[in-house]
Amino acid sequence: MVHELEAICQILNEQQYKLTPQRKVILKALLNHSNDHLSAEELYEIVKRQNPDIGLATVYRTLDLLAELDILQKMNFGDGRSRYEFNTQDIHHHHHLICTSCGKVTEFDDDLLESLESMIQRRTGFDINDHDLKFYGVCKDCSGQDVNPTTGYPRKTTVHKTR
Ligand SMILES: [Zn+2]
Ligand SMILES: [Zn+2]
Ligand SMILES: [Zn+2]
Repeated sequence: MVHELEAICQILNEQQYKLTPQRKVILKALLNHSNDHLSAEELYEIVKRQNPDIGLATVYRTLDLLAELDILQKMNFGDGRSRYEFNTQDIHHHHHLICTSCGKVTEFDDDLLESLESMIQRRTGFDINDHDLKFYGVCKDCSGQDVNPTTGYPRKTTVHKTR
């Protein structure tokens, strides 16, 4: 697992990089928020609380380094900032749901695209080996709707007070 601090240390060592105390703080924060798709700015806010000495430039440099070493994957969700998640060994792991209201990024595991891929492949002769899919919309917290997990439809539609 690349997710573990020790494994990451080893990769850094092999590439002749030192795990400086600052890098360690940044890595630990990333590991604690491994599902959050943090941007450099968000990560900086987190590390700053425990470690006011760390500057935003250090966070940027560390993220660049970790992305270069393929420990992190750099992603763009169209909000003008790069976000990061740990690289997994699987070629394909999940899709992303991006809330256009609060910016929260949620993961969605089910993959129903194989049939679409083979349909495209049949029609165009294009040999597809991967896809990258992002869904934009409004998250449950922002819409105030409680989704019924069995139907996928909101349970109640009038949670919001009308202004
Ligand atoms: Zn939201
Ligand atoms: Zn993700
Ligand atoms: Zn997929």
